Amino acid sequence: MTANPVRLQAIAAVEAHVPPPISFDPGEEPGEIFGSNVFSLTVMQKRLPKTVYKSVVSTIEKSTPLDPEVADAVASAMKDWALEKGATHYAHVFYPLTGLTAEKHDSFLDPVGDGTAFASFSGKTLIQGEPDASSFPNGGLRNTFEARGYTGWDVMSPAYVLENPNGNTLCIPTIFISMTGEALDHKTPVLRSQQAMAVHAKRVLELFGHSSPENVVAYCGPEQEYFLIDSHFFLSRPDLLNAGRTLFGAKPPKGQEFDDHYFGAIPARVLGFMMDTERELFKLGIPAKTRHNEVAPGQFEIAPMFERANEASDHQQLLMTTFKAVAKKHGMECLFHEKPFEGVNGSGKHVNFSLGNSELGSLLVPGDNPHDNAQFLVFCAAVIRAVHLHGGLLRASVASASNDHRLGANEAPPAIISIFLGEQLADVFDQIAKGGATHSKEKGTLTIGVDTLPNLTKDPGDRNRTSPFAFTGNRFEFRAPGSNQTVAGPMVMINTIMAEALDYCATALEAAVSEGTDFNEAVQTLLAEIVANHGAVIFNGNGYSDEWPIEAEQRGLKNLRTTVDALPELISPEAIELFSKYGVFNEGEAHSRFEIGCEQYILAVAVEANLTLEIGATTILPAALRYQTELALNVKALADAGLTPDKSTLETVSGLVATLSAGLATLKDAIAHEHLEEPLETATSIRDNVLPAMATVRAAADELEGLVADDLWPLPTYQEMLYIL
Ligand code: ADP
Ligand code: MG
Repeated sequence: MTANPVRLQAIAAVEAHVPPPISFDPGEEPGEIFGSNVFSLTVMQKRLPKTVYKSVVSTIEKSTPLDPEVADAVASAMKDWALEKGATHYAHVFYPLTGLTAEKHDSFLDPVGDGTAFASFSGKTLIQGEPDASSFPNGGLRNTFEARGYTGWDVMSPAYVLENPNGNTLCIPTIFISMTGEALDHKTPVLRSQQAMAVHAKRVLELFGHSSPENVVAYCGPEQEYFLIDSHFFLSRPDLLNAGRTLFGAKPPKGQEFDDHYFGAIPARVLGFMMDTERELFKLGIPAKTRHNEVAPGQFEIAPMFERANEASDHQQLLMTTFKAVAKKHGMECLFHEKPFEGVNGSGKHVNFSLGNSELGSLLVPGDNPHDNAQFLVFCAAVIRAVHLHGGLLRASVASASNDHRLGANEAPPAIISIFLGEQLADVFDQIAKGGATHSKEKGTLTIGVDTLPNLTKDPGDRNRTSPFAFTGNRFEFRAPGSNQTVAGPMVMINTIMAEALDYCATALEAAVSEGTDFNEAVQTLLAEIVANHGAVIFNGNGYSDEWPIEAEQRGLKNLRTTVDALPELISPEAIELFSKYGVFNEGEAHSRFEIGCEQYILAVAVEANLTLEIGATTILPAALRYQTELALNVKALADAGLTPDKSTLETVSGLVATLSAGLATLKDAIAHEHLEEPLETATSIRDNVLPAMATVRAAADELEGLVADDLWPLPTYQEMLYIL
């Protein structure tokens, strides 16, 4: 009988870890390197003729199409800049529906024919690529025989040089569409939905007297949670390596109950990693700002400053890639899975959202006077209508097998989508519902103005961590997205449902005004009507309580607990109509998102189920059998010596070995029966049969972990992975 070497060797290796040398001057000013690898507006201003530069700025700010001649000039300047930065290749970077980032690299060098080659890069190559890329999921949008896919530069998201010890690449963020113009990616619908939202936001602003307001955009500030563990542990856990989460593991004797990790001192090793990642992010122009320890041991958070949604989304993807790469350099693994460890908190990615522009700032900020407040309240009311009517779509936008472990588990908001307004704003809407708000609770003063709307202080201050969609003073925070998801999915939904709600508000106000109704009165009527019809979505209580799901049901709010419940929302007749009305998805595109959602769910659970079988049968069962033999030999030896052995441990272990073996057989059977006709049927069957069978196997294995001799236990334990860093 040999002791298991893998786990114990991993522990020894972690203890022997030597941090990598610091690769930068600690006295370096962050300002010196910020954006140094970005082909930003500032760089363009320096390198482009004035007219060309102006044309690019107009494309970015007014969303006008990029002129081909301008594209040629930009491409040429971009190439020279990239070559100076040591780039040898360029890549159109795109965001396929797997939720990952994809890139196709091409060399700048063009053979001339006389045996030489020179660096070339035309406007056409800059703005359009043809990566084929037919293996990406497309949910039936294109057949492989006509597998052309095109990429096109999103001018609003700047190009950058990505450094790598093995060569630098000029990266161009692009959309990815089929030959017939259908969106095969996450970026295209972000841009389309942003455009739709802007049209109707403008109408509302015009009603409030802004004669030609700047283009309104959606802003997104993502807060990213993640875990760090040592690479040695990661590599000796096939479940983490292949599925991103532990499929086995007993709860550690000490979990997060002391709250001693939350906002605690950042361990030196982690701080080294953070310094290094932030520097890489700065070079790429990603405004990393806040960092801290999170609730679970080994868990941390980074929050970059908010940006335009499409840029924030690209940056967010780049941030995740950077974190993974830098963690490896530091001998660690960065885990973005929503629930890598059972029994401690999982990771989310809060999407802070507002809409506005540089001229007016955030339109979700209370104003200094009744007129501005009225405008603010109309935008807030639009959010209330949007979330009440389309909470199901928001839920569907964050649906995945891994996020199902988080939502509704008393650590993240429930799967019921409601809005938290804060005491002050809730009170204002309450008064509106009762026939006109005259005072604001916060100040306790009565403001009787022409508008009969209250003064509002700028920071209502209170927070509610249990709400999925919370007002936080100048923005709403959507807390249901998972840590591994792109923010593009939620942003598309938020933009689209806001487009509908703002369209509704603008139409109502325009009609009232044209009938000669006083504008203030029209606003008052609209607000009252929205609170009356959609106020049910406002909930300021504890979203983790047992009473809330019951009350939510009485209020008619959906509780879409799993991915399988949520995905059909994407193809309901109302959703299809909404998407097509605002030009976000045609019917085929909506269906493709639904199908890919099902497919990804099926694939994710299938990988986990097969891993559970494999690890259960080849790693855990053998360890248990060895220990069982050892116990049996011990019992026999004692009996032979005329002593009375205690057989209780042997009996318990034998019982669990039997349960584990039976559980593995049941799981194998469940996996064999999982392929049904329709993807949703298969996903449902997997949820109802495979996941419970996996849970039974895990329960027996985790109990064995508490019994089997430590030197025989093959997998790094929770306490080792979470606490040794
Ligand atoms: P908290 O933990 O209190 O939610 P953080 O500081 O961790 O706050 O993160 C807040 C996030 O919200 C940051 O990404 C920040 O840039 C973003 N944010 C702030 N103001 C806005 C706004 N007006 N619109 C969108 N995002 C915003
Ligand atoms: Mg935070």
